[in-house]
Amino acid sequence: MNRNAKVIVIGAGAAGSYCGYLLDREGFNVTILEAHDRVGGRTYSVDNVDLGGSWVSTQQPNVYALCKKLGLELIPQYDSGSTVSVFNGVRSLIPGGLATIMQDTNVKSLEVIETFEKWSRDLNFEDKFFLEMDQISAEKWLKQNIKDSDIIDYFLTLIGGITTTHPDKLSMLFWLYFLRQGRGIRCLSEIKDAAQEFRINGGAQTISLKLTKDLDVKLNQCVVEVKNQENGQYQVITQDNNVYIADLVVCAVPANLINNIKFNPGLEPGRTHLYNGMHMGCVTKVVVLYDRPFWREAGLTGTCFSTQSPISACFDGSGDGYFAIISFIPHIEDNPKEYTDEEILLQLSQFFDNKQALTPVKIYRKDWRGEKYARGCYFSAPRIGDAGLYKYLTRPNKNIYFIGTETANEWYGYIDGAIESAKRAFNQIKFDFSKGMV
Ligand SMILES: Cc1cc2nc3c(=O)[nH]c(=O)nc-3n(C[C@H](O)[C@H](O)[C@H](O)COP(=O)(O)OP(=O)(O)OC[C@H]3O[C@@H](n4cnc5c(N)ncnc54)[C@H](O)[C@@H]3O)c2cc1C
Repeated sequence: MNRNAKVIVIGAGAAGSYCGYLLDREGFNVTILEAHDRVGGRTYSVDNVDLGGSWVSTQQPNVYALCKKLGLELIPQYDSGSTVSVFNGVRSLIPGGLATIMQDTNVKSLEVIETFEKWSRDLNFEDKFFLEMDQISAEKWLKQNIKDSDIIDYFLTLIGGITTTHPDKLSMLFWLYFLRQGRGIRCLSEIKDAAQEFRINGGAQTISLKLTKDLDVKLNQCVVEVKNQENGQYQVITQDNNVYIADLVVCAVPANLINNIKFNPGLEPGRTHLYNGMHMGCVTKVVVLYDRPFWREAGLTGTCFSTQSPISACFDGSGDGYFAIISFIPHIEDNPKEYTDEEILLQLSQFFDNKQALTPVKIYRKDWRGEKYARGCYFSAPRIGDAGLYKYLTRPNKNIYFIGTETANEWYGYIDGAIESAKRAFNQIKFDFSKGMV
């Protein structure tokens, strides 16, 4: 390997941190330019509390193996007791934790879930049947194909909750693509052997902090231009007019923000069109600390799913030495109402039927709409009708490699997808080097 080859990685989220780490180990001369004053991107942990991405799973082989390699302690998600469900204003207790919620849904809903899962497994981007589903939103598909309005509402809530995006903004094909990447609805929404299985002691941001510990990371460096020079090298230019020279560039910024960087020469028109249409979902994540786990004492898991605002879902979020409830407030409507801490606590007290919820020790709250270098969360999704352009997500442009969770082949939108994308680009860079293409 050419040990003098200079790589600039743009962005120090999970993807950029891991790709930088792998390339550094391989002997490349790596510098990571990060716009923020911290690494971690959409993982952000304060006082051991995750305000961004958090859960990892044995079903997510890339991030699970990386956590083991980095010696991170995984805390199993608490799931003993009954789970609360509030559908259309009716509160019910479901014994046996989150896994039983699916069994509790009615037969017609289960049939729809089976159909979605079969189609997601069979998904073929060449097939007319599927391509037609790229022309219709998930919401429109549900309304055209399901008669029962309760079942439509159930799926609108489910899709909006899992993706943090209104189902009228996602194509039906993208929803199936997302399901396939996340191994189906059960795996995406449950705890045991599923996406919400473990949290990382110290917080998920630790992944990026550990990976970049010995790397050359320059913070507060927002990249605004990438210019290919006549000698083949790239000039990477920041907002403050700092210029970095690179033989190859790894662009690890969220796909909805790539067009904020001016590429010279310009990127392929199809790619630019795709990035223009990428739109982020959004939630506010609220973590409420309590002096005791009153929900556990009452035989509850701490998990609740609700179709009633503001909180769509909450979970036990207790960690080393503290007890907490994590809540998600989706912002999928165009003009979502803003909620006070008191309104949030009131809803928690109704979920758990317990006034102790009204007297927290501390409240952490983060609205990801205000995050300048993400502009939302959990992920950005392509516009309806752009399936023919998804190929650009993973494809390099000359010696510019694109990574990040939106470019994943597995677990799109998750930390695992970010890690998988970093590995993919690393292998491709090694291959291109071995062929003398870089
Ligand atoms: C509230 C919330 C809850 C979530 N829950 C989970 C969960 O439980 N489990 C899970 O697996 N995933 C979860 N996710 C999603 C997960 O956090 C992301 O998929 C993952 O962290 C994305 O990593 P990334 O490296 O692809 O992108 P990012 O983390 O967004 O990294 C991109 C980096 O690029 C930087 N950047 C942007 N523009 C520029 C520029 N012009 N110049 C230089 N740098 C730039 C950004 O500052 C950022 O550091 C959640 C996310 C949020 C916000």
